[in-house]
Amino acid sequence: MLPINETHDPRLRSFVDAANAPEADFPIQNLPFGVIRRAGSKEEWRGAVAIGDQALDLSAVAKLHLLSGPAAQAIQAAAEPTLNRFMDMGRDAHGALRAALSRLLAEGSPHEGVLRGCLVPLADIEHAVPARIGDYTDFYASIHHATNVGRLFRPDNPLLPNYRWVPIGYHGRASSIRVSGQRFSRPMGQVCGAGHTVPALQPSRRLDYELELGLFIGSGNALGAPIPIESAEEHIFGLCLLNDWSARDLQAWEYQPLGPFLAKNFATTISPWIVTWEALAPFRVPFQRADGEPEPLPYLTSLANTVAGALDLTLDVAIETEAMRASGQSPERLTRVRLPEAMYWTLPQLVTHHTVNGCNLAAGDLLGSGTLSGPSPGSQGALLELTEGGKKPITLGNGELRTFLEDGDAVIFTAWAERDGFRRIGFGECRGEVLPAPVGVSGAHA
Ligand code: CA
Repeated sequence: MLPINETHDPRLRSFVDAANAPEADFPIQNLPFGVIRRAGSKEEWRGAVAIGDQALDLSAVAKLHLLSGPAAQAIQAAAEPTLNRFMDMGRDAHGALRAALSRLLAEGSPHEGVLRGCLVPLADIEHAVPARIGDYTDFYASIHHATNVGRLFRPDNPLLPNYRWVPIGYHGRASSIRVSGQRFSRPMGQVCGAGHTVPALQPSRRLDYELELGLFIGSGNALGAPIPIESAEEHIFGLCLLNDWSARDLQAWEYQPLGPFLAKNFATTISPWIVTWEALAPFRVPFQRADGEPEPLPYLTSLANTVAGALDLTLDVAIETEAMRASGQSPERLTRVRLPEAMYWTLPQLVTHHTVNGCNLAAGDLLGSGTLSGPSPGSQGALLELTEGGKKPITLGNGELRTFLEDGDAVIFTAWAERDGFRRIGFGECRGEVLPAPVGVSGAHA
């Protein structure tokens, strides 16, 4: 486990005023990494850290040569147009740069004057996907989600017997992952509705979101060299929010026998700032399962994982329809879920399981947690569950009904960690919007 150190001190304040507001997502205790440039410009992409309502341009800071030792090497890598080389440097380098940036951005910093010249307002920037994502794996780590979905797809056999033993996952597609703000067309695909024996190609009518966490791998492992549970955390760079957009009607027809394919790979949206594993250290909680659930196999068990392998975050899903946008209405919350009640596995367990057969992970690889659903109403991370497969529409505040997403709907994820004695930190926003299907395709089922 990572120690709590001076960078987590709740008394720390930044010379960037907005970072000191109690509800700020990006106080000086957070310091998440992303890749930025001025919106609409042709500038080089470069690494940055969010602080209050500003981004600290790390390529500009690197040119000032204020740092020495491992932090000086780390900032050169973190300033690049993708964060892969920085991620690969490992936990000590990440920690050295975090500590150095914390000192530079603190109230009373002797370098405040020059550093103010390296700040860009968040309102003026655009983001790139922060790493070259070589591989993307999506897990299925919420037992409530797995049970709810299983019940809809296989009423007689909702939770398959392997679920309680294997962290279930599949290899997804990295090429369609974009940062927050992604707008994508409603996907086309094969649908075979009830009563049909021949499928038709049509726009998905059961388009959904999935609330997930994304985990970026830091330093990887060699092929053939599994990552033991005891050192799994050393390979976690940090977390973002992830929307695994899903076309349920395509999924229902195609998913057997090999699992998700075109129902999932048309778009995946991530929040642009990666909250580091070290920033989340104060929010670790015991790994606990409900009474009667089995203990994981020994290779997925360690004292540290039992004592503090889980993470206490709260995540929200909100929707903003076209009508809401037109009338100036704020997004409306659909879901609030706490991470420990959703996750059947810890994130370090997912890393260890992924490599137990010798599979190699590389810096910048992305792991999705799987849809985060809690046990109670209003804590489910997908419309499929909230509407019970489309049978129970949700009535929004303005009277609109939703079973699945309509064209023009935007879905917004937010998340934060808070605990007495520590500063609240947030993830920013993961937003995506559904555009109409491409025109001119026919053959739909009535
Ligand atoms: Ca998923």
